[in-house]
Amino acid sequence: MNQDINIKTLQKNCFRQSKVPGVFLLQMRVPGGYVSAEMLEIVKHISETWGDGNFHFGTRQTFDVCGIKYQDVPAVNEYLEKYIKSVEEDVCGVDMDLIAGEKVGWNPKAGYPTIGARNITACIGNYHCVCGNVNTFELARKIEGIIFPSHYHIKINISGCPNDCNKAHLCDFGIIGVAEMEYHPDRCIGCGLCARTCEKGSTRVLTLNEETGKIEKDTCCCVGCGECARVCPASAWTRKEEKYYRVIIGGRTGRQTPRTGKMFLNWASEDVVLSVLKNWQNFSAWVMNYKPEYLHGGHLIDRAGYKKFKEIMLEGVKLNPECLVAEDIYWHETEYRSNFNVKPLSLHHTAGPQDKK
Ligand code: SF4
Ligand code: SF4
Ligand code: SF4
Repeated sequence: MNQDINIKTLQKNCFRQSKVPGVFLLQMRVPGGYVSAEMLEIVKHISETWGDGNFHFGTRQTFDVCGIKYQDVPAVNEYLEKYIKSVEEDVCGVDMDLIAGEKVGWNPKAGYPTIGARNITACIGNYHCVCGNVNTFELARKIEGIIFPSHYHIKINISGCPNDCNKAHLCDFGIIGVAEMEYHPDRCIGCGLCARTCEKGSTRVLTLNEETGKIEKDTCCCVGCGECARVCPASAWTRKEEKYYRVIIGGRTGRQTPRTGKMFLNWASEDVVLSVLKNWQNFSAWVMNYKPEYLHGGHLIDRAGYKKFKEIMLEGVKLNPECLVAEDIYWHETEYRSNFNVKPLSLHHTAGPQDKK
């Protein structure tokens, strides 16, 4: 058959080229990594009808169906209608007719309209995890309609607490649930467990006052992990109802300049996080002169500079009173291209007494 394939068009449909010419992998979005089990029937059908009978959990929590032949792509796209409508429109409330906010019109028989904004990943959060501060996939579903469909590239990872199991520090936009803790001294039995736990596993900000038998807190550095509430046998620590988030930006993996992200916002409310993300399309469009390129968010921040990023991303955003914003950001990258920090041992600086040769 004719193998004159337009890979870019297929990529937009969320098909990825394989090492075998004319054979592709379909990436099915699973916002927040959480979806009804009945969706597995659809994955199974695609895999057994057009694929090689298997699927892989993508590193971005997508259902990846391998072994799809080029000539079967139209049939797969048509069959995907039910999955896309159910997951994107019904569950996440996405308007599939909009691309980056502009009315384009989606043909439901033609598969995904774009691959730009990558699947939002999330840990299980407080839906299950005893450490979780927030419901991660509910947040992911609210964000899905803000960033998808869009040709602009962005990777968002959500973690339910500062343990950051979902590596919010290694993507364009990492969102971490943080809890403001409330102490109820009348319930406290002075066992000291919270102070020992904070000392061992967190930021050492709690002290048991031996005289009063009550806890004192150095408010400087609580990271809102909620560990004190998890271990307290008397419910003397509770999380406040309002949910807060830490937002990490500019992290990435990659061949050239991998780096850990840095804190952009701390103690931001959900409204603030969503409003900030609503400015992402404008920011991306502005940086790239309104022509989407295959360039991820962290690189766009580098091009614009943090100050310009901050200006556009905070435009029209009403910050909650607790919200802190990074004044500046000092990146720390692994410079694979320049071998900046690595050299032969013979050239390393020495310290301390050296053996006389
Ligand atoms: S990041 Fe926190 S909430 Fe999420 S799985 Fe890890 S410990 Fe649980
Ligand atoms: S929330 Fe975490 S850092 Fe803050 S006091 Fe409790 S255990 Fe310590
Ligand atoms: S763990 Fe609970 S009861 Fe024990 S000292 Fe801390 S707040 Fe008080």
